[in-house]
Amino acid sequence: RARVEVVAFDGAGVTADGIRIPLLANVGSAADAEAGAAAHAEGVGLFRTEFCFLDRRTAPGVDEQEQAYAAVIAPFDGRKVVVRTLDAGADKPLPFANDDEEENPALGVRGLRVARRNPALLDDQLAALARATTASAAEIQVMAPMVATVDEARSFAERCRAAGLPTVGVMIETPSAALLAAEILDVVDFVSLGTNDLTQYTMAADRLLSELGELGDTWQPAVLRLIGVVGAAGAKAGKAVGVCGEAGGDPELAPVLVGLGATSLSMSPRALGPVAARLARLTLADCRRAAEAAAASETAAAARAAAAAVLADAE
Ligand code: PEP
Ligand code: MG
Repeated sequence: RARVEVVAFDGAGVTADGIRIPLLANVGSAADAEAGAAAHAEGVGLFRTEFCFLDRRTAPGVDEQEQAYAAVIAPFDGRKVVVRTLDAGADKPLPFANDDEEENPALGVRGLRVARRNPALLDDQLAALARATTASAAEIQVMAPMVATVDEARSFAERCRAAGLPTVGVMIETPSAALLAAEILDVVDFVSLGTNDLTQYTMAADRLLSELGELGDTWQPAVLRLIGVVGAAGAKAGKAVGVCGEAGGDPELAPVLVGLGATSLSMSPRALGPVAARLARLTLADCRRAAEAAAASETAAAARAAAAAVLADAE
């Protein structure tokens, strides 16, 4: 039976051998941010800005965006906040950004791709974020969703820097971006693994379809191996590799992600305590052994079992 841990997080993710793994919150509103700060999250690893505008029919202006962002960032003054630019489309369509006539919205003009059609939307968002950055004591970093090519990463980074936002990353949530992580890390400061979409796109299994849940499982060895490619690229470049998909908040998977090279994990605030407790009992070498065993497996079930065996031994 799974152990249910009721543990408070004291605000510092660290392995048994003293390796710091910052544990951050995923937020989409000021209320989420307050809950994350109250749970002692070390910062925000994913601010889903599209959640601020789900009920809007028309694009929010720069002033309105600045205010919305400032309210979410405020509880994290003095700490890191990774703001994701609008990830409109697929499961989160925004009427002012998406075309609802697409046959395959998950493969369509979503995330950063919206800026091809509507560059002003991204320009306005970056302008609002630059103003929010100037006004705030938080350390704001910006990242783009749904990146597939090095050129997309490069042009996003250029636009952010031109807008006065110096620290830029992209999400790794397509297999293409994972395989090109080394080249992408040449042009951005950090990457963050969106394991929800990375799993969906690697396994070609709709993340909303529970019938395909066994395929849409981040324990699938193909997904773990791709995450390992990204972790290795980050280590080689000396740049941060975050995880901000659901997997980062799973106490079974979190050590495996760290073993594959994740340098921080972002999650729903209630997951902070259980993940911190798990990491505190394991060394980085334990995490690496679990990761190796899981990634070398043939099935998701075997990967889970292999990691669990290594970690049970270590704990
Ligand atoms: C992800 O895809 O893992 C992710 C964090 O982004 P979202 O769930 O918002 O698509
Ligand atoms: Mg995603």
